[in-house]
Amino acid sequence: MEVEATATPSHVLPSASQISEALLGLHRELPSTGLGLHAAKQHLTQDVAPALNANSQSSRYYGFVTGGATPAAVFADNMVTEYDQNVQVHLPNETVATDVEAAALDMVCDLVDLNPKQWNHRLFTTGATASNILGLACAREHIIKTAAARSGVIADVSSQGLFAAMQAAGINNIQILTTMPHSSLRKAASVLGLGHASVKDVGNHADLSPHRFDLEALELALQKSPNTASIISISCSEVNSGLFATDADDMLVLRKLADQYGAWLHVDAAFGLLARILPTKPEYELLKRGVSDLDLADSIAADAHKLFNVPYDCGIFLSRHLDLATAVFQNPGAPYLSSADGSVPSPLNIGIENSRRFRALPVYANLVAYGREGFVNMLERQIGLARKIAAYMHASDAYQLLPPSTQQGDHTYSSIFIIVLFKAVNPDLNATLVRKINTTRKIYVSGTSWQSEPACRFAISNWQSSVEKDWDVIKEVLDDVAAGSDA
Ligand SMILES: *Cc1c(COP(=O)(O)O)cnc(C)c1O
Repeated sequence: MEVEATATPSHVLPSASQISEALLGLHRELPSTGLGLHAAKQHLTQDVAPALNANSQSSRYYGFVTGGATPAAVFADNMVTEYDQNVQVHLPNETVATDVEAAALDMVCDLVDLNPKQWNHRLFTTGATASNILGLACAREHIIKTAAARSGVIADVSSQGLFAAMQAAGINNIQILTTMPHSSLRKAASVLGLGHASVKDVGNHADLSPHRFDLEALELALQKSPNTASIISISCSEVNSGLFATDADDMLVLRKLADQYGAWLHVDAAFGLLARILPTKPEYELLKRGVSDLDLADSIAADAHKLFNVPYDCGIFLSRHLDLATAVFQNPGAPYLSSADGSVPSPLNIGIENSRRFRALPVYANLVAYGREGFVNMLERQIGLARKIAAYMHASDAYQLLPPSTQQGDHTYSSIFIIVLFKAVNPDLNATLVRKINTTRKIYVSGTSWQSEPACRFAISNWQSSVEKDWDVIKEVLDDVAAGSDA
């Protein structure tokens, strides 16, 4: 089913005066007598709403990777608020909520072609950051347990704590080996007591492919010392360039190395995961190779509030080790939280939160409303627009497509997924490029840096985006900014 179109706002950002007016109108002191529902509603719609950005409503907001919210997902999300279910314990005789979550997760697995029987630890989270924390927490438990077992002793972080478990297992160092990680991986490492410094880049810099693994460097790092335990994290669509860390052949090698050295294989596929739904066509072959054999991993982090286009916040976590989950996330000694029926694991015993929003419902609604075809169609439109922009950048004298490898001898831009990274050739323009584009308020892009120079990035992730709808406006802005007329 096609996703039904809605009206596009004319500007993706509020104007400076709309923001300053809203700031003036904000209540900053608690009223002793409230304004009442009617006046509060009026305040929100008249004073606050005009100063919010159109990141979800507009197909021309290309900052970060924000996604949007389809009409089906918005409907479901309002229902979530209205019914306010607390999806924590599986209580099948009292509410169908946990069964809806289980059904939605089964359909997500079906959509991205992962066997739900194999991926037995499945959960909706608050986002890919939380999913990365879940992945590293399971990984930490697994690698210490494995190291201990290999020395003939028993150790586990979940009951003994990190320090005692490491000592018992004879481990004095934990490293996370990856390439161009998203910042949230370092944050997850910090939260879990592993530290930012445990995240090590083993990218293929020599080959100008820093997003790919240098497999020799990786193996050397794994061999480092018998007292080091390792987690391998795969950047499955790198956030700046949209490039994939692995292809089918690497995954087999990574799995073998992980087994040999007792490591855990985690995939950060926040927005990359959906590339698995692409049809078999030559123009998608490279992307499909980037997400093939993900079933060899131990855990996968993904986002639903990005390419799945449900409202914030919603992430996805998949792992093949339910036994570890119930060790790490169990609420110990709380019999009143146990479920009557074990057919669906109670979410509070396999994830971070205890009380949880019914964030499964918008995902469920999206999958039911639009089906596989709707998702494929949405993604093909997004990739089509990204590649149209890439072709323009390549042909332009004013802009340069980055990284340069994305255009070598390839006129179909087959390595472009939903992200287009570029810079202005003129360094003065490049220094102010993001601001110049965004002050038009017609489109919005993110600033970043690439090889220590400022760079600019389109991320096409809204369900409404398409060449037909958006290309003319994008071209006009880019032409005007290049010509020095500030549109
Ligand atoms: C967005 C993103 C994250 C973090 O996701 P949140 O939903 O913001 O928590 C992690 N990894 C990658 C690759 C991302 O793109």
